[in-house]
Amino acid sequence: MWFDTVMTAADDTLPALESAASPAASDYRAFATQLRESGCRRCALGATRTNIVVDRGDPAAGIMAVGEGPGEQEDLSGRAFVGRAGRVLDELLRAVGLDPERHLLIANVVKCRPPGNRVPHADEVAACLPYLRRQLELVKPHTVLLLGATAYRHFVPAQRAFAMEREVGRRFALEAWPAIAFYTLYHPAYLLRSPGKKPLALGHLEKVRRELEARAQWPS
Ligand code: URA
Repeated sequence: MWFDTVMTAADDTLPALESAASPAASDYRAFATQLRESGCRRCALGATRTNIVVDRGDPAAGIMAVGEGPGEQEDLSGRAFVGRAGRVLDELLRAVGLDPERHLLIANVVKCRPPGNRVPHADEVAACLPYLRRQLELVKPHTVLLLGATAYRHFVPAQRAFAMEREVGRRFALEAWPAIAFYTLYHPAYLLRSPGKKPLALGHLEKVRRELEARAQWPS
């Protein structure tokens, strides 16, 4: 078995998009446009955001990265990871040969900026996760890079305690998403605060590259 860990995740970690008012498009680009233009008010973040930030990159790429939530620059521009943390992410991706605009799709757990860039509250995440679930269903990535503890937390089985330092760099599988290899990586904002961890973060991405190359899934 090539996974470090296989976890039995309750499928309810990423609930389905149930509301008739939700974007129901069966094509990813149509879904993204509908969501951007939806004026979503599923949670309180809808009242303070400027833009709904759906993603950045190429939905056909096969690799997805999932962060926490938009910051100020993302809120203003409507594109994921375009601020300081985004520049760190792009630098690391480019260092292993990935073009952030072409070789992956970058999204977030919540699509609207939490005021002051605080960690999104549980009810905000719960309201927004169905959108992420739909992104996964439409994009069908073979690989998902979970950027930081917030993203990781929402894919692991409910209530499971974890230490990020133990999880980071690991690849795992989820019974609920059997076609996806998940990797836990440092959040780029953490690397801004702790630049000494960048070589380790690069090592994690090099592991991803080696393993995807071995499975002929690395983009060229
Ligand atoms: N941090 C995130 O988690 N996502 C973004 O899009 C930007 C910063």
